[in-house]
Amino acid sequence: MTALLAHTDAYLKEFEATVVAVDMEANAVALDQTAFYPGGGGQPADDGWLAGQPVTAVKRQGGHIWHWLDGELPKVGDTVQGKLDWDRRYKLMRTHTAFHILCGVVWRDYEAQVTGGNMGVLKGRMDFEFERLQKELVTEIEEKLNQEVAAARPIHVKILPREEAFLIPDLIRTKINLLPEGITEVRTIEIEGLDLQADGGTHVANTREVGTIKVAGYKSKGKINKRIMLEIGE
Ligand SMILES: [Zn+2]
Repeated sequence: MTALLAHTDAYLKEFEATVVAVDMEANAVALDQTAFYPGGGGQPADDGWLAGQPVTAVKRQGGHIWHWLDGELPKVGDTVQGKLDWDRRYKLMRTHTAFHILCGVVWRDYEAQVTGGNMGVLKGRMDFEFERLQKELVTEIEEKLNQEVAAARPIHVKILPREEAFLIPDLIRTKINLLPEGITEVRTIEIEGLDLQADGGTHVANTREVGTIKVAGYKSKGKINKRIMLEIGE
């Protein structure tokens, strides 16, 4: 199993690791630990460098996290240095956190549930069961999002035993019960006083780091399902 360092320290930009497997055909290596986020939950995988080579893709396969390299592969047992494209990753952390603020506000004030979402660097979309969403509400939501940024709410990451997580009403609402049975621990992200979710992604430590949030558009995806698009300021 590759230890995912980003789960406990999202601000880790450089790290050292040991190569535990190589795939010559794919030109990829698996490490004992990594700061690279392999993608998931709507957040893309990180870019960066490993053993001096550009990392072109990162994916979780089985228990390992594989790093595809554009260049010469190190050998099993080698110690290698990794470095994230931090500018890009930090923008993804800000973007990801903006969507938690959106989830929190839309649930707190309109009781609308999230059904899905996807994000890129400083932009993304999220879908809700939100029948009464219309233009006036969009303007109101944008104001509320920026109020939550200005409120400078701290964000906490916790890893809880499954049984404990299953007793938390906010987590039950976000369909935590769909987690496979083998998973014994649940990682939670809490925006103090606003939002609590089970989540594997990377987030900033305080809502003020997100910066300005703009509702770039909204779309009807049916009678009930509505999509909200966000853009985050540079
Ligand atoms: Zn998240």
